[in-house]
Amino acid sequence: MNTSMGKPIEYSLHSKEGRFVMNQLLNKKIEINWNGNIFCQKCAKKTKRSFGEGFCYPCFISAPEASPCIIKPELCQAHLGIGRDIEYEEKHHNQPHIVYLAATDKVKVGVTRDTQIPTRWIDQGAHKTIILAKTPNRYLAGITEVALKEYYSDKTNWRSMLKNVIDENIDLIEEKWHCCDLLPLDLQEYFTEDECVHEFTYPVEEDPAKVSSMNLEKTPSISGVLTGIKGQYLMFDKEYVFNVRRHTSFEVEIITRG
Ligand SMILES: [Zn+2]
Ligand SMILES: [Zn+2]
Repeated sequence: MNTSMGKPIEYSLHSKEGRFVMNQLLNKKIEINWNGNIFCQKCAKKTKRSFGEGFCYPCFISAPEASPCIIKPELCQAHLGIGRDIEYEEKHHNQPHIVYLAATDKVKVGVTRDTQIPTRWIDQGAHKTIILAKTPNRYLAGITEVALKEYYSDKTNWRSMLKNVIDENIDLIEEKWHCCDLLPLDLQEYFTEDECVHEFTYPVEEDPAKVSSMNLEKTPSISGVLTGIKGQYLMFDKEYVFNVRRHTSFEVEIITRG
């Protein structure tokens, strides 16, 4: 799903008919039907299973979009001119990156290319975020994140995120300056003084008290009243959650019922 900033954030999907705003389906009964087809997002060939985020197996092990340095930025060698596809690495990874803190029930540290802000934060369903450091390439952002992983998680707890469990006592500005003290001297040079805290409001009618996940491989037809959209999840009937990103490359039909 694509996102654009607003109060709340606007979510849209691209379909054969064009761009479709998902927010307008809130409170409506919808049905998602999967016909069993998965077409690789890279080579468009049909694949029985989806690897990574919608790749066939050959693309998953060869495509630059599925390189190990996507998940582990500290492995990136774009700045050395090394990678699965040098042109891709130069264009996407040997570029300015940021290291940030995001708060929900805990503080997590993350890395993204500067052009992916605020998309990346919204994709994770972040409540609040702050920029820590700006680096000239992905590798330096990755090793900064690794230096902080001892103190902060690098994963979002998706259940807490969906239930909107928030610790209001977290002070991201304070955490940010604490991070500066934790960083080795050679990485402190990329630290920013920016104290802007970014806040996000998602289109959620009511926070679910419990979350049960659904996927199309188990249930090829999903239906319910859309009660919220957060991160990359659709929420149904204030309980069932569907991870849209996990179903990248699945051929589906979305039907509105009333
Ligand atoms: Zn492929
Ligand atoms: Zn890379």
